[in-house]
Amino acid sequence: MVTRTVQEKLAILSDAAKYDASCASSGTSKRNSLDGKGLGSTEGSGICHAYAPDGRCISLLKILMTNFCIYDCSYCVNRVSSNVDRARFSVDEVVSLTIEFYRRNYIEGLFLSSGIIRSPDDTMLDMVRIVRKLRHEEGFKGYIHLKTIPDAAPELIEEAGRLSDRLSINVELPTDHAVAAYAPEKKPGQIREVMGRIRARKQAGKDKTHTGKRPPKFAPAGQSTQMIIGADGSNDATVLGQSTRLYSSYKLKRVYYSAFSPIPDASAKLPLIRPPLQREHRLYQADWLLRFYGFELGEITGVTADGNLDLEIDPKLAWALEHRGLFPLDVNTASREMLLRVPGFGVKTVQRIIGTRRTRTLRYEDLTRMGASLKKARAFITAVGWTPGGLTDSANLRARFAPPPEQLSLL
Ligand code: SF4
Repeated sequence: MVTRTVQEKLAILSDAAKYDASCASSGTSKRNSLDGKGLGSTEGSGICHAYAPDGRCISLLKILMTNFCIYDCSYCVNRVSSNVDRARFSVDEVVSLTIEFYRRNYIEGLFLSSGIIRSPDDTMLDMVRIVRKLRHEEGFKGYIHLKTIPDAAPELIEEAGRLSDRLSINVELPTDHAVAAYAPEKKPGQIREVMGRIRARKQAGKDKTHTGKRPPKFAPAGQSTQMIIGADGSNDATVLGQSTRLYSSYKLKRVYYSAFSPIPDASAKLPLIRPPLQREHRLYQADWLLRFYGFELGEITGVTADGNLDLEIDPKLAWALEHRGLFPLDVNTASREMLLRVPGFGVKTVQRIIGTRRTRTLRYEDLTRMGASLKKARAFITAVGWTPGGLTDSANLRARFAPPPEQLSLL
């Protein structure tokens, strides 16, 4: 077996982790080391993020413990049948890298995932050892997000939850059928069972015991999951339907959508259907509309005949263009529910509109100061000093927003 330096392992195992989208670190409980004990801190308002050019978060030390794996998920570059460079960190190596990087201010926490080596229990035990050592021996109080292996022993998942800020378990693909086809060793029922246990355990952690004490915190930043998008033939309605069920069943903080990247090894033949990163972006926008803007799933995915989101324009704009009869809205009288449906208005803009119009009548110029994107909103609203006239119903309105068609190369 090749002997690698820690730097070489880091290059391989941080690169291997880039396919994991679930790295946001907000919403944990406040903890600090200002009392001189331990090091590091978290903020209740969330840890800052940095983003790589492809939009992924890199503020955490985001690594795999190993990219060796005994499973053979077709969409995964680390599957056992893939011909990639392999490496494995020891427990001590991950601990000292985390501490060194933290001290140098490179990172604010750790995101740790792993391929499965020997068995799910052995793998999870090593991951728990890392976190245990960081917390108990190094006094590390920074953020830790641990990717959990669903078929590991419940007591290991229990300990992982007590030591980490966030746990996540990947549901992998949008349907059980797709999981059976592309990740045959994974069991969707078991994945959901563990997600249910984490939810129940987290809830139990909020209740006081009969002595009035609270039990130890369990995954204070909650749980999240990830779905690979574009590796199977599921349309966006299926993807968003699955995430809607997951949010409500398991009180998830986030469902992350990870665009399937074609694997260099051509032996894995999977359908690559739509531009993956653009699709991922539109799914996040639609997910946001479903959770915070009062949209129903069918409203967003019913805009197109095939249940896929329009890739050229954002889903709220696509919906508004299909429902022009409801517009233009008078910003001085429209309900909050309808204002949230105006393209270019965010939740904060709507709050500001409602707050301000209690005391005075809004003019068109006021809306820019309130954070509205008038380039999008102007066709859908009226205000003092503005009426869109025929713009709302104009035949070329969509063309104003959609990117111009590209001339295809003949070569
Ligand atoms: S278990 Fe995880 S690391 Fe292993 S092949 Fe499947 S997705 Fe990849």
